[in-house]
Amino acid sequence: MGNNLTMDMLVSLCKRRGFVYQSSDIYGGLSSAWDYGPLGVELKKNIQEFWWKEMTRLHDNIVGIDAAIMMHPRVWEASGHVENFTDPLVDCKKCKQRFREDKLPDENRKSKKCPDCGGELTDSRQFNLMFKTFMGPVEDGGNLVYLRPETAQGIYVNFRNVVQTSRVKVPFGIAQVGKAFRNEITTKNFIFRTCEFEQMEMQYFIAPEEDDKWFEYWKKERWEYYNKLGIRQSKLRFHQHGPGELAHYAKDAYDIEYEFPMGWQELEGIHNRTNYDLSRHTEFSGKDLAYLEEGTNKRFIPFVIETSAGLTRTVLTVLSDAYEEQDVAEGDTRVVMHFHPIIAPVKLGVFPLVKKDGLAELAQKVELDLRGDFATFYDHGGAIGRRYRRQDEIGTPYCVTIDYQTKEDNTVTLRYRDSMEQVRIKIDAIPEFIRKADKEYRREK
Ligand code: ATP
Repeated sequence: MGNNLTMDMLVSLCKRRGFVYQSSDIYGGLSSAWDYGPLGVELKKNIQEFWWKEMTRLHDNIVGIDAAIMMHPRVWEASGHVENFTDPLVDCKKCKQRFREDKLPDENRKSKKCPDCGGELTDSRQFNLMFKTFMGPVEDGGNLVYLRPETAQGIYVNFRNVVQTSRVKVPFGIAQVGKAFRNEITTKNFIFRTCEFEQMEMQYFIAPEEDDKWFEYWKKERWEYYNKLGIRQSKLRFHQHGPGELAHYAKDAYDIEYEFPMGWQELEGIHNRTNYDLSRHTEFSGKDLAYLEEGTNKRFIPFVIETSAGLTRTVLTVLSDAYEEQDVAEGDTRVVMHFHPIIAPVKLGVFPLVKKDGLAELAQKVELDLRGDFATFYDHGGAIGRRYRRQDEIGTPYCVTIDYQTKEDNTVTLRYRDSMEQVRIKIDAIPEFIRKADKEYRREK
């Protein structure tokens, strides 16, 4: 069966199986915000945990923080966001749609014609993407605050706190996962670009003369990370920012792009932000953010190599990459989500072959005993084949079935999601077996 995945197929599976729903669905929905359902929230959490482990616990010089979403408004003046965090906005005079000029197809940008109806487009004007609100009961300029458009600034303003209170030494990193908000002009494509989203960012503070070395190091690390997450390498590529694309703070920048159903798009940015941010915060706050190097007594403002990934965008990547419609036998097809087992929302389905003769009770006991180790799901509804299909569709990598033989010798069949092969193993051996299978998992091409 063909695997030309469309966004509609993905949206439909996500709604049907409880991964992602449109925000405020019963009121007709909000196109720029989405809610994560019972399976979606598990998938998102598992991805976040995987990232956190890879980016903090596996390094002895990267620590985490969790900064507030609302920050002092001067932060955003120092960072350049008040002045520069804008997108060029154009309107179609005929159908009234709005577009980001820099994301229009070339021919429409040149001809100034609407890509949807052919109507004339207005001249572009700069539109600031930050959401504004007021802190406290009085809505005046003095109480203005912004919802953070990136998590990075929470890290920079805590640079001194972290240096003074933990034992990190340059080169070191600070990592953070959290919500960010951007008043995006166009928010098509499901959870790809939304006004409320989550980022996973790590800022690596280094000696200025070592920037090229660390930039290359993090490019490599981050590429390898997606490999470990189980994303097919053929669907990933690097894109280097040209001079016109570079952000105001960046010396060099690469995106890791993924081939989504709508084409190649950015998944993560790796940026050499120089000492721009810490210098600006030194200037605007009046606090010296220079670093004193032990031993050499050299003082300098560190450079920063940033790795900035979208968590919610990674969820879309993982969903797109996992989806497959397969012919499994004559006239029989299945939808299977090939999630890497370390991020699958349900790790193990547990079924009795039939409900009677004590098999259901036995299966329930097996499932209960495994809950402490894995995300499990017990199911006795319908034919066994249908139960397998339901788990395939939500990406459960393993299912065990309890049958009459189980009563005699305490063994079960364990079925693999991808190959549909079955092996017979002892109940006691299940946890160890699964941990090993997780480690050895490779997606078949
Ligand atoms: P674009 O130019 O596409 O608007 P950007 O280059 O400004 O994006 P960054 O500021 O580098 O994006 O953000 C880092 C990461 O945060 C992106 O790679 C993406 O994964 C995620 N991200 C940014 N904006 C959004 C959004 N509106 N919705 C979901 N994820 C986002």
